[in-house]
Amino acid sequence: NAQIPRPHEQRIITIANQKGGVGKTTTAVNLAAALAIQGMRVLVIDLDPQGNASTALGIEHHSGIPSSYELLIGECAVSDTIQQSPHNERLLCIPATIDLAGAEIELVSMVAREGRLKAAIQEANLAGYDIDYVMIDCPPSLGLLTVNALVAAKEVLIPIQCEYYALEGVGQLLRNIGLVQAHLNPELHVSTVVLTMYDGRTKLADQVAEEVRSHFGEAVLRAVIPRSVKVSEAPGYGMTVLDYDPGSRGAMSYLDAGREIAARTSARQTASAPASDAQ
Ligand code: ADP
Ligand code: MG
Repeated sequence: NAQIPRPHEQRIITIANQKGGVGKTTTAVNLAAALAIQGMRVLVIDLDPQGNASTALGIEHHSGIPSSYELLIGECAVSDTIQQSPHNERLLCIPATIDLAGAEIELVSMVAREGRLKAAIQEANLAGYDIDYVMIDCPPSLGLLTVNALVAAKEVLIPIQCEYYALEGVGQLLRNIGLVQAHLNPELHVSTVVLTMYDGRTKLADQVAEEVRSHFGEAVLRAVIPRSVKVSEAPGYGMTVLDYDPGSRGAMSYLDAGREIAARTSARQTASAPASDAQ
């Protein structure tokens, strides 16, 4: 695989949509693997107590393993929690265990409860790992775990399933992103929208794609993720589709998506360079 340029600074991308089953986890792990295969060093942070991202990356995550839970409540340092993918040395993961299920409630009474993930993964703590991309996989809710992910990131990636009611709940998500931006993290923005589970044989899929494109414009990737059995089978083997079937359409679509996202960095960096010089 051709290499892609490293971003000038680390990019932290939160993958959010409070609707379940839209492809958040699938997109987080496959995009991470696609970037890693193309030379990037990538850290996936699993923030869903279900631990599906950890499973899909072949990362151990039974209860008691140092995980995103210990990180959030301050019992562990980042370095205690990071594991390496068995398939790619450039792909790292902070797993989620079932212990995270209680965090939503435990966090409520904690100091600086919205900023705990951000503090835990700040530059100094990740310094030794030389990470280009951090991908945070959110649970299907807008609670404190998702808020922590939104505070820690600069970018939000919203996966949208090409199905009925695709945009249901997205208004609520955008309002929450707006609130976090206004009060906690002014740099936060929706950088990327990915259309998932696209079935080219149906008219509906095209209608949804068109509606999403008219709503989000440039943020929507040209690469569309097809509905594919290979994509859904891969996690059962503790693999991403990039390892499970590298030549499949699903794998290709995530490679394309990764290249597009990487290209956008340089575009925005070029565009914003004069402004920052002037400050
Ligand atoms: P979420 O994290 O938003 O809940 P998942 O990524 O877990 O969603 O996806 C939900 C289900 O859909 C999973 O069983 C997953 O394997 C399946 N799935 C996701 N993307 C695809 C795809 N492109 N083709 C086929 N199945 C998919
Ligand atoms: Mg998920």
